[in-house]
Amino acid sequence: RVQGYLEKIEKMKDINAFIDVNKDRVLKEAEELEKNEKLKDKPLYGKIIAIKANINVKGYTISCASKTLENYIAPYDATVIKKLKANGALIIGMTNLDEFACGSSGETSYFGATKNPKAEDRIPGGSSSGSAAAVSADLCDMALGSDTGGSIRNPASHCGVVGFKPSYGVVSRQGLCDLAMSFDQIGPITKNAEDALLLTNIIKGKDPSDSTTVETPKFEKESVENYKVGVVKEFMDVADDKIRDKIEKGIEVFKDLGCEIVELSYKYVDLALPTYYLINYVEFFSATRKYDGRRYGYRIEEVCGEEVLRRILIGKHISEKEYSGKYYKRALQARNVMRKEMMKILKDVDVIVGPTVPKLPHKLGEKLSPMEMYAYDVLTVPTNICGICAGVVPCGDVNGVPVGLQIQAKSFEDQKVLSAMIEFE
Ligand code: GLN
Repeated sequence: RVQGYLEKIEKMKDINAFIDVNKDRVLKEAEELEKNEKLKDKPLYGKIIAIKANINVKGYTISCASKTLENYIAPYDATVIKKLKANGALIIGMTNLDEFACGSSGETSYFGATKNPKAEDRIPGGSSSGSAAAVSADLCDMALGSDTGGSIRNPASHCGVVGFKPSYGVVSRQGLCDLAMSFDQIGPITKNAEDALLLTNIIKGKDPSDSTTVETPKFEKESVENYKVGVVKEFMDVADDKIRDKIEKGIEVFKDLGCEIVELSYKYVDLALPTYYLINYVEFFSATRKYDGRRYGYRIEEVCGEEVLRRILIGKHISEKEYSGKYYKRALQARNVMRKEMMKILKDVDVIVGPTVPKLPHKLGEKLSPMEMYAYDVLTVPTNICGICAGVVPCGDVNGVPVGLQIQAKSFEDQKVLSAMIEFE
């Protein structure tokens, strides 16, 4: 099977899903795995997994798809990788992403854009573009991505696969290269929702190396009959008609499953992008100070792409004392307001169902302004701002371009999202 996937990766190289694959190493590890009796009964035994190239896997290049770290070989395994390996998984290689996970289209990688296997002339979404494309093109069994403001859910939606962002604190971030550490979370990208549940249960758990993690009981699939399913009017309103149409059909499926549909209103959709990007810029600026050319590769400002540089420069500016009251502190206040309101509307329902992205993916190479690019994130960033969980499942297509349905729930009610994803499928 490994051999088959390796050949397929080679054959479908122009998708540009992988940026570091070491054939000999993978084959050797597969051989060792086969001999390892202790791992035979493990839930991931023999599963072939692709990893976004911003998560440390010992011996692989963790470039974050940036020239800055093009020669950086991971000296250790991230906590999630240790857990995968301890459960019998085989890592097949590192996947492409927007540079330092900054992007929504998969086009800003130093190694070139990823293609969308389901709609070749369209972007695959981002930033976990390679992981979603790899799963979508059947180049692996499952993948890991990271989601700061939608980077698992957005490409899952565009590539017609399943993606899940766990509640903040469910999965350890140790070994993940930070984009904005108060939002970042690692999660699965898979071919079906059952696999997302399986993978989440394996990678989750309290980790002494990440003080924001908490222990949660094993997530079990439960019946969604009698679930109260919220539909937020403002979320539906920002999506284009063709997407809304698909999502409305998706909501009918929940009715048929015996759920009660509840109309909700969330007043702060307009705050989502400014709040998210201000906090993102400040935290990203701080996270990149270590890339000064002394310890890790090149000095980031000298070699990075336009979007990364934009974030560093704006982040630096608004971190300065005289401006922080005006921007950063206000963004933190807005985050609180958004969280409180989200908790309020979630009190009355089990899950919220709606669109993942407001528009269909643009054509590869089409030049978008930063604001147009950020606009993709309006429906995914509220999840991260509020620290709650959300998953995406395929929900039809518009002329062959996939549309994903997003399901959200309260913090640590990941089980509800995962159950709703499974039953929806
Ligand atoms: N598109 C968002 C951004 O550029 C989300 C990125 C992410 O989730 N890693 O910040």
